[in-house]
Amino acid sequence: MKLITLEEHYADIRIMEINRKYSDPNIPMKIPHVTGIFEDLTNFEKRIKYMDENHVDIQVLSMTSPIGDNVLPKEAIEACKLANNITKEHIDQYPGRFLGFATLPMCDPVSASLELERCVKELGFCGALLAGRYKGRMLNEKEFLPIFAKAEELNVPLYIHPAFIPNEVKKAYYDSEAYSEDVAFELSSVGYGWHSEVGIQVLRLILSGIFDKFPKLKIIIGHWGETIPCFLDRLDFMLDKNITKLKKNISEYFKENVYITPSGIISKDQLEYVVKLMGADHVIYSIDYPYVNPENPYEFLMDSALSDEEKELIAYKNAERVLNIKK
Ligand code: CA
Repeated sequence: MKLITLEEHYADIRIMEINRKYSDPNIPMKIPHVTGIFEDLTNFEKRIKYMDENHVDIQVLSMTSPIGDNVLPKEAIEACKLANNITKEHIDQYPGRFLGFATLPMCDPVSASLELERCVKELGFCGALLAGRYKGRMLNEKEFLPIFAKAEELNVPLYIHPAFIPNEVKKAYYDSEAYSEDVAFELSSVGYGWHSEVGIQVLRLILSGIFDKFPKLKIIIGHWGETIPCFLDRLDFMLDKNITKLKKNISEYFKENVYITPSGIISKDQLEYVVKLMGADHVIYSIDYPYVNPENPYEFLMDSALSDEEKELIAYKNAERVLNIKK
């Protein structure tokens, strides 16, 4: 069965240099459990070999670190164009193996929407990947509306990926004298904190009425739904339409406008739960290459208790439909 995976990152030294020049010294660049990743992020021969060995037909590529918040706007806009052009070069170099999610200059949402349009219409990309907030501003704030409006207009999804949370939030919620800084760092980011932040961002988008404004907008999130799925009943109960003044319940927007991927978390229980909750037509596969290296990711899906129709949807049919991939 064909397999298309969606949260697959790469790096390019030119973009890394731009980010390094403006990097925030308060945010460490190194994640303790991730070592020696640069080679895997940049070596495309190794990537193709990995894909062949793991039955991955197509990876949707995204730049691992989108342009940092501190990069000056003019340079950020140019850097995103460069990043997207580099992605396109990789796509062209290996016909049929890669597709692209755009990197957008969040410092200037109108420019970001125009870059999304260029990437979709001229480069053939299938959406964009956004990471975290921009300078502490959550994605539901009104300055970002042009990006969501453009995504709906172009009928492409936005993948909301986590990023490091603000230092003051880490300090208040995750630092402790009772454990090491390495523990606090991982807990605040890849272990839990940044996933919970994506969950909050998606809830804020729903509560700000984004899907009443843009009913056809498609959002994709990884890590089996970034902490939201098990809370939907509670959210509907505590934040009902009388309070939110929205047209639908929170869970209705979540199940209609949001698509979930595993990000390489190989968990049979999560797979079955999310398919039951969302329907197989709202689950799309992802591995999070090269950060996560699950054993037999293809067999995990194929050997699951799902029906063949459900497996086909998750493995490639949903991706083809939601990302408008030409077969
Ligand atoms: Ca990732």
